[in-house]
Amino acid sequence: MARTAYGRFAPSPSGDLHLGNLRTGLLAWLFARSTGRGFLMRVEDLDRVKKGAAERQLADLAAIGLDWDPPVVWQSQRLALYDAAIESLTAAGRTYECFCTRREIQLAATAPHGPMGAYPGTCRDLTERAKQQRRDEGRPAALRLRAEVTEFTVTDRLFGEYRGAVDDLVLRRGDGTPAYNLAAVVDDADQGIDQVVRGDDLLPSTPRQAYLATLLDLPVPEYAHVPLVLNTAGQRLAKRDGAVTLRDRMALGESAQQVLGVLAASLGYTGATTPSALLEQFRPEHLPREPWTLDPNGLLQPSSYP
Ligand code: GLU
Repeated sequence: MARTAYGRFAPSPSGDLHLGNLRTGLLAWLFARSTGRGFLMRVEDLDRVKKGAAERQLADLAAIGLDWDPPVVWQSQRLALYDAAIESLTAAGRTYECFCTRREIQLAATAPHGPMGAYPGTCRDLTERAKQQRRDEGRPAALRLRAEVTEFTVTDRLFGEYRGAVDDLVLRRGDGTPAYNLAAVVDDADQGIDQVVRGDDLLPSTPRQAYLATLLDLPVPEYAHVPLVLNTAGQRLAKRDGAVTLRDRMALGESAQQVLGVLAASLGYTGATTPSALLEQFRPEHLPREPWTLDPNGLLQPSSYP
C-alpha cells in the first residue's frame, strides 16, 4: 500500500554536511520511522549550490545508515510548481512587486505596528506610475506576499505553541528565483509531507510558512524543531571549527558507525551503531532540549565507541 504520510530531510547543497546537520537528519529519520511514516530526501538547490555537494551529502547520510524512499527530489526541477503557487496568490490579489534593495530595507524603519525586522511595506501600495518609474530605472522587482496578519501561531512538538512574526515575505526574488519559504511550503504539501523536523534556527520562519500554507489551501504539517550543535565558544557549529564532517572524521580513523554512535550518544542513547538499533530506543519526549556542545578537536567521545 502506498504511504500517505512522510517526514523529510531537506539539505541545501552548499557544502558538506557537518555533524550537526547529520544529527538533524538522523532525528528527522527517527521521527518519521518511529511514527510509521515514509522518509523523503529533498535537495534544496535553488541557490547556494556547490557542485557535487548534493551527491556528497546523500552519500554521507547513507553512510551513517539512513535510508529514504525514492526518488530524491531536486527543487531546481520543480520550478513550474512554484510558479503555479505564485500565480494563484497573484490571481487572488495577494502579491505585489517590491523594488527595494536590501540596504533600503535595512534603513527603513520597521512599520509602526509590525514585528521587529519585518519588511516595512514600502512598495505595498505603489501607484502604477511609481512602479513604471522604478522599472524604467532598471530595478529588478521581487514579488512579495501581501500578508494580512502580523503574527501566526504554530504547534511544535518540542516548543509547544509558538507565536511568531509574519510579514510581507518574498515569494520570488528579484533574480527570478522562488524564495525558500515558498518552495518549502509548496514541496512539503506536494510530497505528502505532514511532519517537518529540522534545526531550531528555522523556528522563527515557521509561522510565515504555516500562514503561507493556509493561504494556498495546503495542510500545515506538524513541526519538531530540534536543538542545534554548538562549538565550544557557544556558537553554531561551522566548518571552520575543525574536523566536523563525516569525511573529516573518517580521515582521523573513525568509522561511519562510530560517528553514528557519537550522534546517538549526544541524544542520550548509548550502544547504538545503526539507525535501526537506535529506533528501538528512540523516545521523542526524552530528547535533550539543550544544544549539544561539540569539541571537534579532540576525539569525539571515545567512551561511546563500541
Ligand atoms: N534547506 C534548509 C537548510 O538546509 C532546510 C529547510 C527545511 O528543513 O525546511 O537549512
